Amino acid sequence: MKLKNDIYIYEWTNPFENNCNSFFVGGNVNALIDPGLTGYVPDLLGKMSADGINKEDIRYVINTHSHPDHFEGSEVFDQEKVKVGLHTKEIEFLKGAGGELYSLFGINVPRMNVNFPLEEGDVVLGDQTFKIILAPGHSPGSIGLYWPEQKALFCGDVIFDQSVGRTDFPGGNGALLKKSIISFSELYLELILPGHMGIVSGRSNIQNNFNFIIQGIFPYI
Ligand SMILES: [Zn+2]
Repeated sequence: MKLKNDIYIYEWTNPFENNCNSFFVGGNVNALIDPGLTGYVPDLLGKMSADGINKEDIRYVINTHSHPDHFEGSEVFDQEKVKVGLHTKEIEFLKGAGGELYSLFGINVPRMNVNFPLEEGDVVLGDQTFKIILAPGHSPGSIGLYWPEQKALFCGDVIFDQSVGRTDFPGGNGALLKKSIISFSELYLELILPGHMGIVSGRSNIQNNFNFIIQGIFPYI
């Protein structure tokens, strides 16, 4: 579904199974953010094609982190043609404890090399400049993908609508999660696009959400 401008949203609405929200940035960017579990990628591609976006249009797959419900589906994209991105810290994590998480869920780590290692700072996708913000806490190499032109933040599982990412998985860290959320709160934002649950839009709603989390949830992290 087209949300606004070139941002498309594919929200996960099945409460009985785990998977993430996926997003697509169209225009000249053509980036899929968090493809989700491999088993649900055909369904995602079907929804995208109803919006006029074909699999062949996708030039980038940007992963906010390596957890299976976000990253596993990266394996279905042809690495000769598609740049699959993950932060370098998360690539390392996936070789150890992050990979063991897959076996906990009874699935295999995708057999692929991430061909687009991400570092903090500006990254140019198509004709747009985005910012990679390292945001550990939910996982060691989680990122926020910030799009200054749209004042939009793809924040993965760092922060949600009135909630925050779990810190009890391997590599989780509550103190770091708080720091990451504070750094997100300092961005100029009009749109928060999280990995689960609904989006948060509008400056005052976003500010209220940060306030609620910092005052109401931080004491328990
Ligand atoms: Zn998740």
